[in-house]
Amino acid sequence: MAIIHEVPMREKLIAITFDDGPHPIYTPQLLEIFNAVGGKATFFMVGEEMKKHRDLVKKVFDEGHEIGNHTYTHPHLSKLSMEQCLDEIERNENLVEELVGQKPVVFRPPYFDYNDEVIGILGEKGYPMIGAVNGEARDWEQPGVDHIYKASLDAVKEGSILIFHDGYGDRSQSVDAVRKLVHEVGSQGYQFVTVSRLLEEFKG
Ligand SMILES: [Zn+2]
Repeated sequence: MAIIHEVPMREKLIAITFDDGPHPIYTPQLLEIFNAVGGKATFFMVGEEMKKHRDLVKKVFDEGHEIGNHTYTHPHLSKLSMEQCLDEIERNENLVEELVGQKPVVFRPPYFDYNDEVIGILGEKGYPMIGAVNGEARDWEQPGVDHIYKASLDAVKEGSILIFHDGYGDRSQSVDAVRKLVHEVGSQGYQFVTVSRLLEEFKG
C-alpha cells in the first residue's frame, strides 16, 4: 500500500487537511473559514488532544468535517513494536468512536514516519494512508504566511490533498494562509471536500 498524496480526477475538488489538533483557538477559526464557503475539511486528530477538548471534536464532526486517525500520542511509529503501533491506532479510533459515534477511516502517520509493519497493520485494518502534495509549504516551521500560501497554491490541482497544522504550537500563520488559499482557490471554482469524499470520487 502506497501513501496517497493526491487522487487523479477531472473534477475541481481538493481536500484540505489539518494535523495535531484539535486546538481551542485555531480549530474554531478554521471551522469559520470553511463554513463561510460551505466547504469541508479533514482533521487528523491526536488522541491526547481530543481528550482535552472533547466538545470541539464533536463540533468539528457535527459541522460535517472528517476526523482522521493521527495516533493517540503522536509517536514515531517506526520506533515502536507492532503491538504498540496497533495500540496507538486503536486507542485513537476508540476515542473518536466514543466522542462522535463512528470510527475514523483515514490515517496519517505522525512525521510521515512508517515502515512495512505499519503498512501491514493499516492494510489489515483497511486504512488508506494519507499524504499531501504541499510538503514544500512546511507550515509546521512557521516560514511565513506568504510562503505557506504560495507553496500550497502551486500544489493545487484537481484531486490534491493539502497538509496544514492546527495543533502543537502557534498556528496563526497556517490559519491566515488557509484563509487566503480558500478564498483564491474557491474563486477558481474548486470545492473543498473531505479526504473520504475525494477517495470515493476515485473509486466511483
Ligand atoms: Zn502530526
